[in-house]
Amino acid sequence: MEAQTVKRVVIAGGGTAGWIAAAALVKQLGPLLDITLVESDEIGTVGVGESTIPTTRTFHSLLGIYEQAFLRETTSTFKLGIAFENWNRIGDKYFHAFGTVGKSVWMADFQHFWLEARRQGFGGDYGDYSLEQQAAHAGKFATSEGSTLSYAYHLDATAYARFLRGLAEPAGVKRVEGKISQVLQNARTGYVEALELASGQRIEGDLFIDCTGFRALLIEQALQTGFVDWSEWLSTNAAVVVQSESTGPAVPYTRAIAHEAGWRWRIPLQHRVGNGLVYCDADMSDDAARAKLLADIDGKPLFEPRLLRFKAGTRKQSWNKNVIAMGLSSGFIEPLESTSIHLIKIAVSRLIQSFPFGGISDATMSRFNAESRKEMEHIRDFIILHYKLTERDDSPFWRRCRDMPIPDSLANRIALFRDNAAAYQGADEMFRIDSWIMVMLGQGVEPRSYHQLGRLMEPGQLRSALSDLKGGIAAELARLPAHQDFVEHYSKG
Ligand code: FAD
Repeated sequence: MEAQTVKRVVIAGGGTAGWIAAAALVKQLGPLLDITLVESDEIGTVGVGESTIPTTRTFHSLLGIYEQAFLRETTSTFKLGIAFENWNRIGDKYFHAFGTVGKSVWMADFQHFWLEARRQGFGGDYGDYSLEQQAAHAGKFATSEGSTLSYAYHLDATAYARFLRGLAEPAGVKRVEGKISQVLQNARTGYVEALELASGQRIEGDLFIDCTGFRALLIEQALQTGFVDWSEWLSTNAAVVVQSESTGPAVPYTRAIAHEAGWRWRIPLQHRVGNGLVYCDADMSDDAARAKLLADIDGKPLFEPRLLRFKAGTRKQSWNKNVIAMGLSSGFIEPLESTSIHLIKIAVSRLIQSFPFGGISDATMSRFNAESRKEMEHIRDFIILHYKLTERDDSPFWRRCRDMPIPDSLANRIALFRDNAAAYQGADEMFRIDSWIMVMLGQGVEPRSYHQLGRLMEPGQLRSALSDLKGGIAAELARLPAHQDFVEHYSKG
């Protein structure tokens, strides 16, 4: 058996990515590794990333995180999905809920039964069969042993990194404060051997995790790995962000409100609201974006808006030589479906599963890279869907989105649904069938046909099956308290 040759792990950067990586590695592999994290208070973190998806909970349970302590320290609220406004047409609204919609059978998914019911003149909206959507609209929420609600969190990004640090440091992660001034590479292999700080301190390692955010200090500035640019499909490239005072009870969902050159988010936390306006700077100036954000938010801003720039795309390799990029250094797809933090968690989980104790091999690296790329492309397609399927023609931005050619992978999915109301979730794909359907219906796709299984049902059987589903949701809804009341009560626990 080979000796352990990879033992010293150095994490460069202490934002959400750095501390997620540190907390997960030390929790799972702590006794086998020697982990150091370097971060610079002077540089700071990106300070956004407040909306999550339900996989966060799985990750937290792997880390043994106690939910109530997490909620308290990160002033989190609960999230049941995203409310989209003005995306297909100005004035339109639809909801992308977590959880499952209706009930499927092995021969056909639920949408086929619902479409048959609609043909027969009953059935209502697809979202009537989503407990999460109904609870979100009613402003209700509870979590308990028996609760079936699928949920995620709205969290304070800075507090989250601090919370994870509070787990990682006592478990053995060494934190070094300082600015990395040089990445020292082996002259022959190009492998990174050490990080040199402005103070002159050197931090040597066997494996380096680049969590330096958009700077991508190791993976790009040192290793020049290259970037695959997806801005032809996702042209938003800037955001102005500001926090504001709460003006009422926190709703259990993120709002994503489209405007003439992008969209704006609203994320309610326990003590404040996070706001940001995402736009394409070829279609809207920074000053106009800032003014629009301030005009549209509904509470007093807590500081001057900050401007962030980004580009949609992914690193050609997330893992190159002995450097693995996680978080913004590995690439970025704009935050519309709150997927970035999830990608960090998946990346560190994958590293834990395939940790190269005996040395870095091309096979391990290329499998890691292939899986990362597949995940990014899947998310990329799902985000493009929201822009492509628009009927808006009120601005050059939306006309461009509507008319742009899209990746074949996405064109096929849309055609499948349009032709036959069919949707699928491939192995290892994150977005579920229900997610694809909610967004495609919400963005105005009308399937031309669907599975005819519903027609084989006895008269009245389909109607009573759907009405039972609605009845079950109404009964569960009646038992749920108001979200705000639940948060106040539960996070004190
Ligand atoms: P950063 O937070 O930028 O951290 C970089 C770290 O590297 C810092 O600690 C910094 O000090 C350190 N560093 C950099 N250079 C040096 C150096 N020379 N020496 C020492 N240290 C250094 N994600 C979601 O999941 N949901 C969302 O709702 C969401 N919204 C977003 C909105 C916007 C506009 C943007 C841009 C991103 C959003 N994200 C969201 C993404 C999310 O913010 C990031 O994925 C997450 O915060 C991780 O960032 P990071 O740790 O990679 O980078």
